[in-house]
Amino acid sequence: MTHLTLADCRAMDARDPLAPLRDQFTLPAGVIYLDGNSLGAMPKAALARAQEVITQEWGTGLIRSWNTAGWFELSRRLGNQLARLIGAGEDEVIVTDTTSTNLFKVLAAALRQQQGVAPQRRVIVSERNNFPTDLYMTQGLIELLQSFGGARYELKLIDGPQDLAAALTPDVAVLLLTHVNYQTGFMYDMAEVTAQAHAQGAVTIWDLCHSAGAVPVDLNGAGADYAVGCTYKYLNGGPGSPAFLWVHARHQEGFTQPLSGWWGHARPFAMEPGYDPHAGIKRYLCGTQPIASLAMVECGLDTFAVTDMQAVRAKSLQLTTLFMDLVAQECAGFPLRLNTPVDTRHRGSQVGYEHPQGFAVVQALIARGVIPDYREPRIMRFGFTPLYIRFEDVWNAVAILKDILLTKSWDQPQFHQRGAVT
Ligand SMILES: *Cc1c(COP(=O)(O)O)cnc(C)c1O
Repeated sequence: MTHLTLADCRAMDARDPLAPLRDQFTLPAGVIYLDGNSLGAMPKAALARAQEVITQEWGTGLIRSWNTAGWFELSRRLGNQLARLIGAGEDEVIVTDTTSTNLFKVLAAALRQQQGVAPQRRVIVSERNNFPTDLYMTQGLIELLQSFGGARYELKLIDGPQDLAAALTPDVAVLLLTHVNYQTGFMYDMAEVTAQAHAQGAVTIWDLCHSAGAVPVDLNGAGADYAVGCTYKYLNGGPGSPAFLWVHARHQEGFTQPLSGWWGHARPFAMEPGYDPHAGIKRYLCGTQPIASLAMVECGLDTFAVTDMQAVRAKSLQLTTLFMDLVAQECAGFPLRLNTPVDTRHRGSQVGYEHPQGFAVVQALIARGVIPDYREPRIMRFGFTPLYIRFEDVWNAVAILKDILLTKSWDQPQFHQRGAVT
């Protein structure tokens, strides 16, 4: 490997076709933001849009805005805008609720679907280091079904991709995986794994929280069944912005999801006493939507308007590769253990390192204006959002990391204190 310099990084910025997109975001001076995988940066357009929603649409339009400002159709319209980023078709995606809640809906749908054709399948396979809420929601649904004398389902956890083939036994109903792992950044080959699951009679649920807006996803191309994901990470939708849900067209009419609120009804304002599901994806809505927050999702999606996921992917791989190379060049000799695949076919848009004092090192970085995040156990997680991270930022982040490790400045009492959110 040739020796990399700051000038090399600046030259990469000068050649970067996505460089102008950074100007769409508000980023505080003196901050290198490497946590867009937890909370995306703020699109500049969000402020004016928020003002418009609050003062005009709410303040002046009042109740009329459900019709006149497009509020009632917003979840569906945003779903269609998001669809092109994840290989989905028209009216296959809806933006609503949280990832956790949406997972509950599609897991129930997938189990019901399997119950109809293969009732002996009672196992849900997932991964031990999947994002915990996915496992918690699964446990909750399993307990709910069992507590009313219903079927006994079981959650089986594999230790990693190497155990997948052996876990797909004839009793598996659903394979529930996160496409890009939140801890390691490992990315599954969605088409290959989906085909493998289908060959064994299992249906697939993909969690796209660390994929949507980060890597190209082709749900229809992969022949997947169900997917969920959030909009506040790489899609820049704002803190706690509503999540999304995708169902393959072949499954949409076959099932009524259990959170059958009035917004999923075919005629919500007919106020009928009986539930009749809406045709298509709208049946996955539950209740009244958080319009102010949904409006911010549109600002986030708009930041992708003048690019495509192939260009985003190309820069993402350049950024993560540069970071790995620079850490190897500048920080050799420190106890850093890479926990992200070097193989680009299996790498998302983040890079993780374990360090025995990972938590304190991350706090010391934040104090110096470099913001990654920390995940148990010992993992320092650096997220690279191609829309607003520069190659020069990567150089500077590594220089500061090196300085913190060299001087051991992480070993100060304030860097060992934990807040509620890490
Ligand atoms: C961030 C994340 C979630 C978050 O779920 P919420 O319901 O939005 O809190 C779920 N799954 C994965 C894989 C995530 O990375």
